[in-house]
Amino acid sequence: MLSSLDSDDVVFIIQRISGAIHTKAGFLSELDADVGDGDHGTNMDRGFNEVSHRLSGFKDNDIGTILEETGTVLISSVGGASGPLFGTLFRRAGRAVKGKSSISLNDIRTMFESGEKGVMSLGGAKVGDKTMLDVLDPAARAASRAVHGGETDLVKSFESIVSAADSGLESTKSLVATKGRAMYLGDRTRGKYDVGAFSLFVILKSVLETLREIDGNRSQ
Ligand code: ADP
Ligand code: MG
Repeated sequence: MLSSLDSDDVVFIIQRISGAIHTKAGFLSELDADVGDGDHGTNMDRGFNEVSHRLSGFKDNDIGTILEETGTVLISSVGGASGPLFGTLFRRAGRAVKGKSSISLNDIRTMFESGEKGVMSLGGAKVGDKTMLDVLDPAARAASRAVHGGETDLVKSFESIVSAADSGLESTKSLVATKGRAMYLGDRTRGKYDVGAFSLFVILKSVLETLREIDGNRSQ
């Protein structure tokens, strides 16, 4: 059973996230073209591509620093509204585990909570505004429920987190955007996914798949 991650695991996970965003970039930009300016996938791909190039430079650090550096690169290279928001999510998650060279589910729960607070205070959005928070909030709650239920298995916990994130993502379809560029389209955003929520779902799903891979490699 996989119950903790070290710095190398976190670097590996971020590399896999970069790959997942790259694969979905075209789809994400198409989604954004329906309700925004069509740049979301390209922006995220540029940011995570830069992160993956820089990862070897920060891999010998503690997990908090690796995540903070990742967030800093995202802020400076993604652009749009989502650059500072995703960047802040990673930076705040990193700050929650500053100095740690190993993290458990409880640390991951604090990373989610701290990241969510950061996104909320930067963007001023709340759950139901059709933003990435509609995925982030249920994911954070699922992490907290797993901790309180005494779960320590990271793969099982992320299965619950991704399932909650998936429901959150689906919920964005029936919502009307009140934040970001999409709010100018108002009612016309109904029936479409929020693109930032979709990106965050891609990230969380990639984390789950990579945790399964790490778990599989360890038990060999
Ligand atoms: P832009 O709108 O500047 O082109 P992107 O297309 O990269 O930026 O990202 C849009 C996404 O950013 C939205 O789908 C939404 O999830 C997220 N977003 C926008 N504004 C906010 C906000 N205030 N709080 C949280 N997330 C937001
Ligand atoms: Mg856009």
